[in-house]
Amino acid sequence: MAEVTVIGAGVSGLSAALNLQLAGFDVRILTRDPPQGSASAAAGAVWSGGSVAGRSRRWADDSLAHFLKLATRADSGVGLRRMRQLFPQQVGLPWFKDKLPFFANMRPDELPSKGQDGWIMDVPIVAPPRYLQNLQEQFLGAGGKLDVREVTSLDGLADDSGLLVNCTGAWAKYVTPDPEVFPIRGQTLLIDAPQIRTGTMRSSDDTYLFPRDDGVLLGGIYQYYSWRQEIDRAQSRDILERCSQIEPAVTDAAIIRTAVGIRPGRAAVRLEAEKRSDGRTVIHNYGHGSIGFTLSWGCALEVLALARKLSNR
Ligand SMILES: Cc1cc2nc3c(=O)[nH]c(=O)nc-3n(C[C@H](O)[C@H](O)[C@H](O)COP(=O)(O)OP(=O)(O)OC[C@H]3O[C@@H](n4cnc5c(N)ncnc54)[C@H](O)[C@@H]3O)c2cc1C
Repeated sequence: MAEVTVIGAGVSGLSAALNLQLAGFDVRILTRDPPQGSASAAAGAVWSGGSVAGRSRRWADDSLAHFLKLATRADSGVGLRRMRQLFPQQVGLPWFKDKLPFFANMRPDELPSKGQDGWIMDVPIVAPPRYLQNLQEQFLGAGGKLDVREVTSLDGLADDSGLLVNCTGAWAKYVTPDPEVFPIRGQTLLIDAPQIRTGTMRSSDDTYLFPRDDGVLLGGIYQYYSWRQEIDRAQSRDILERCSQIEPAVTDAAIIRTAVGIRPGRAAVRLEAEKRSDGRTVIHNYGHGSIGFTLSWGCALEVLALARKLSNR
């Protein structure tokens, strides 16, 4: 019988499961979809700490340290890339400017128009298919168990009595259940364009290009309250059009893959322990919205700290 059951195998579940396992807990994962079928697999995924405050800042900071370390290793699925972030108004300097290997404000002549602001920096970008695969392999290689199985309720797991860790992303809305969770549908395209070496995030219309180890990822779409999993071809055309304004090379590039992912929207991440009416304790770790990779490792460390406290070890 596992001491800890983690529900969900996206970036939140896998990171939590691996950290718990490394600390000596006997861990199993139950997940409706394998890691490559999670919303995490469709993500960007750039480390993006611009909007975080409070305890999320600590999680983002811990994750940044983790990703910077991985970016020095081949095949980690994490690369350090030059990235421009453009804002339609003045924004000042971010809290993490001295934590990145390179950071500068863009000069007025480098900005598309007057009154705008921009940062140029070297940031970690994760290629989720490779990174998730690595987390899964490490977990299974060290003896962890992963069962592909749907959990309908946190109260319905009669087959063991250990600690539960709830990493069900947007589906925490129903599994927990938590009415504060809502879906934010996203769609991305991965293209073959090795000549694009600098990434861009344009905040005014949520357009981004991320050069990754496996291609250049293009986005973005933020469709609030939509659970639709089908690819929307009009949205793909819209993404290509917006990205080609930034990098004309996008127009002729071959499309490697198009993907849809449902972000777990919530006013704030829920990361806390809860005693359920059946006596079981659940550590919730969901609601990371559009920055789940940015927070993932730091959140996993906090899940571990809570699990240690709850089990006196
Ligand atoms: C298009 C897109 C681009 C993004 N870009 C970025 C980015 O650049 N940077 C960044 O930091 N973040 C980004 N994000 C956000 C980030 O991907 C998410 O916040 C993160 O993936 C959430 O991970 P998760 O593990 O909590 O949830 P998910 O990846 O959704 O995983 C949930 C897991 O729970 C399982 N599950 C659900 N219900 C059940 C059930 N009933 N029983 C058993 N298992 C269940 C699922 O099968 C899945 O394995 C992006 C997201 C999208 C969609």
